[in-house]
Amino acid sequence: MPKLTCPVDQSSIVESKTSGEESFKCDQCDGIWITSAALESLEDNAASDEMVKGQRQFGKRVIDHLCPHCGEQMIRCRYRGYNLEIEACPDDAGYWLDKSEDREIRDVMKRRDSNLGRSASAEKSWHKARRGEKVGILQRVKQLFGFR
Ligand SMILES: [Zn+2]
Ligand SMILES: [Zn+2]
Repeated sequence: MPKLTCPVDQSSIVESKTSGEESFKCDQCDGIWITSAALESLEDNAASDEMVKGQRQFGKRVIDHLCPHCGEQMIRCRYRGYNLEIEACPDDAGYWLDKSEDREIRDVMKRRDSNLGRSASAEKSWHKARRGEKVGILQRVKQLFGFR
């Protein structure tokens, strides 16, 4: 494996763990390089299985930072349209996250997850209410025919 360097300050980056995932961390700025697969698994751990994650990169633009993986110019984008800017390899090999942005990503995933969870439980209680309605009608019919 070639020696990886930080796209921001060109310090060497060393193997580390980010939220339990394999990554490379810069000693200078605490930024991390994380592969797309590792980021995917980080997201999955923060959200429930059935959550649809959708598109990851919004408002893409090429920047001067060079990708630690392929040496090409990186792409800056808004993570899933949120107010969180991260940098991506143009080949989608991985992402460069500034210090603590991995935590922000987990927060975004959790927030999305609980929003979706809320609408799912609202739907469930609606179904419950509908079931209650049916029972009510049956009772009324029984009453109508004199059954109690
Ligand atoms: Zn750095
Ligand atoms: Zn790259």
